[in-house]
Amino acid sequence: MTTSQQVPVADELFEVSVDGAAALVGSRCTGCGTHYFPKSLSCRNPRCETKRVEEVLLGRHGTLYSYTVQGYRPPALFGMDPWTPYAIGLVQLPEGLRVLGMLTGCDLDEIRIGMPLRLLAEPLYRATDGREVLTYKFSPLHEEETS
Ligand SMILES: [Zn+2]
Repeated sequence: MTTSQQVPVADELFEVSVDGAAALVGSRCTGCGTHYFPKSLSCRNPRCETKRVEEVLLGRHGTLYSYTVQGYRPPALFGMDPWTPYAIGLVQLPEGLRVLGMLTGCDLDEIRIGMPLRLLAEPLYRATDGREVLTYKFSPLHEEETS
């Protein structure tokens, strides 16, 4: 959960537990099992006859499918303070979909395709009202953390 001093960057995008672990809020089709992130109002699988989706938490763990490094400061619409170059990963989730997320917890030159990742929430910037704005990020999962 987030504290009164923290707010998520967007509603219904992710959930944070007390220990800082996070999960993405997505959807799963009750008919064909397809997962979606962000949440979807309906199943988009053309072969699916049910089209009924339920909300599920996903993305606690994944593996890095691909990534790029954002080396210049994006337009003001993207708030990040202090700003430093960062990596954006395309992360393969066990639920069968790939999601984009910022990478954290390692140097840019330590990033490897296929590395195991876990989801967490970190401050992105401080809002004008003083609250920290949180976003979800993927961080390397070390062997001792897999149990
Ligand atoms: Zn479906």
